[in-house]
Amino acid sequence: MQHLLLGQTLAFTANPFTHGLAAARHESHGAILIEGGKIQATGPAATLKPRYPQAKITDYGRALLSPGFIDAHAHYPQTAIIASWGKRLIDWLNTYTFPEEARFHDPAYAAEIAARYFDLTLTFGTTTACSFATIHPTSVDAFFTEAAKRGLRALAGKVCMDRNAPEALRDTPQSAYDDSRRLLEKWHGRNRLSYVISPRFSPTSSPEQLAAIGALWAEYPGCLMQTHLSEQLDEVAWVQALFPEARDYLDTYEAHGLLGPNGLYGHAIHLTDREKARLREVDGALIHCPTSNMFIGSGLFDMAGLQAAGHRIGLATDTGGGSSFSMLRTMAAAYEVGQLRGRALHPAELMWLATAGSAEALRLGDKIGRLEAGMEADLVVLDLASTPVIEQASARAEDVWGALFPTIMLGDDRAVKGVWVGGRMA
Ligand SMILES: [Zn+2]
Repeated sequence: MQHLLLGQTLAFTANPFTHGLAAARHESHGAILIEGGKIQATGPAATLKPRYPQAKITDYGRALLSPGFIDAHAHYPQTAIIASWGKRLIDWLNTYTFPEEARFHDPAYAAEIAARYFDLTLTFGTTTACSFATIHPTSVDAFFTEAAKRGLRALAGKVCMDRNAPEALRDTPQSAYDDSRRLLEKWHGRNRLSYVISPRFSPTSSPEQLAAIGALWAEYPGCLMQTHLSEQLDEVAWVQALFPEARDYLDTYEAHGLLGPNGLYGHAIHLTDREKARLREVDGALIHCPTSNMFIGSGLFDMAGLQAAGHRIGLATDTGGGSSFSMLRTMAAAYEVGQLRGRALHPAELMWLATAGSAEALRLGDKIGRLEAGMEADLVVLDLASTPVIEQASARAEDVWGALFPTIMLGDDRAVKGVWVGGRMA
């Protein structure tokens, strides 16, 4: 069955941070042909309609068709504790996160929250998320089972922690290795699922555990590895105290085999020059989580400087430390962080970050994140006049960027007019 979707289309041929607006392709009357779960063709509606007369047409009018949003760092088990008041990173973990994560030893509770998580994120147009689970293998099974049910491309891994966490949330170097390996063998590459090796961060793993996880990654170097890096200054100081021999925070990962091109380093705010240079050298990805960084009071990510230096950077909610499931709200927060650092990110840059940028960070740039023939047909359809406030602002627009920016800044789930997952309407 061929589907032809009509609307405005927005595509990128390259990273607009480095290639400018020449990297963007906007069609005001565009079309996307979908068949067999993939995008088969894109172009002007006037060209594609006569070429595929048998295709079933869905006309979205003036709405904007974009690749589905890709959330490159989330904690689905924190769904129910989003918007919890008044704590910074370490207190946040102890007060809200750890008690909630302890509940995920119960498969029924894990399944309930995983289903709720995907239901919520789909309403915001997120078609792929890369999530931390909890230390419990059941939490990974629940996440992947629910993702597979919906046909989603999804990534996750069991959190590894063997110190500085409550007893009920501690594994060991050996059990972290064994459980991670078993889950990886069970889920990685099945349907559209990828297992991600997931030490929470250096403060909650002993050197022995980091080494065991590093050994696992060396056995499966094609897998991604995700963790947290330099989110808050007191966390950085704590890491230095826990690892007195380390040159810096990044070195605690590198010394244990946890620095590499398939590494995802969440937050990466308070980096030293050596850490930046080393991350660039190995081409590890940095994941920017702007609502979280402001909500927990962590600091201002240097998007412009790190883009200029050539880092691969993804965009993410970091729910529930992040204060929204919405990648639109996350783009708005990235814009605000950019402003506080003296650089207004262009709507093209924001959209690129939430789609192709995150896909490239996750090493999935050949599968998702772009409107191109051969890519998987995960799409979000954005109503650029979803509320009276947005409608009156976008009505004055002189180009697609002016029409889109009010939705980036003010849009919520009401702006999401449709979502397509693997070529099917979700
Ligand atoms: Zn996180």
